[in-house]
Amino acid sequence: MWKQQVETFLACDKPYDKADIVIFGAPFDSTTSFRPGARFGYRQMKAESYALETYSPYLDKDLEQINVHDAGELELCFGDAESALKTIESTAMQILNDNKLPVMIGGEHLVSLGSIRAAAKKYRNLHLIHFDAHTDLREDYLGAVCSHATVIRRAWETLGDGRIFQFGIRSGLREEFEWSKLHTKLQKFNFEGLDEAVKQIGSSPVYLTIDLDVLDPSVLPGTGTPEPGGVSFIELLNAVFKVCCLNIIGCDIVELCPVYDQSGASTAVAIKLLRELLLSLKTNGGRK
Ligand code: MN
Ligand code: MN
Repeated sequence: MWKQQVETFLACDKPYDKADIVIFGAPFDSTTSFRPGARFGYRQMKAESYALETYSPYLDKDLEQINVHDAGELELCFGDAESALKTIESTAMQILNDNKLPVMIGGEHLVSLGSIRAAAKKYRNLHLIHFDAHTDLREDYLGAVCSHATVIRRAWETLGDGRIFQFGIRSGLREEFEWSKLHTKLQKFNFEGLDEAVKQIGSSPVYLTIDLDVLDPSVLPGTGTPEPGGVSFIELLNAVFKVCCLNIIGCDIVELCPVYDQSGASTAVAIKLLRELLLSLKTNGGRK
């Protein structure tokens, strides 16, 4: 009689067993250095996803055609980053071990580290593609080694030299930019060199992490540390399409902070990006 109302992202309502892609939320923002609130990113995206079509005119594909399960939000320990990271890592590990592709929605950027650690355990030759305004390469932030300002540096400790490709970067310490010259491939301001990176990575497994503040604040003001001079939505979309030709085995979208954009436009941007990302990912057949 009554149809059960289970709130999910758009058409991401397939059962876990049948899903190729699994979305989960990581509502954590305890290490945010400036404006907190990213913990509400996933919840707000889900609530406002109702306004978006499932069909993508960019890709001529529909979310109804693919098998995505929305697993809901994790319960994460606030104030204890390592504990939160452990929960995220074991969740991502389970999804990877079930041969599904984890798509995590933040949360602040530190949450990526849990998923990257899980992915690196499963895939020895893991590469990382990182879209962000910020380097995120600090050794520590005010003494904290686990912070959204250190997340890529921590990932490097697991992945090592030459495996990390950063794009859109326009903020960080001089020392971070210097450090990156030796250890990562860092493209300032835009996506130049992405084709080369794609060629270089070839068929290796890739984790993609998208910090939404890579976008210009005129496109996405709803974020904790807005940084002028960013890329446009279409530029980001095209970069995502390009990267999704690779063997992506996991990904995330982080740092939406909906409370700082009362218009709701930032959330709309994030959801649309999620739709295009989901439709671009190679599902089971295409992955190795
Ligand atoms: Mn970041
Ligand atoms: Mn950032």
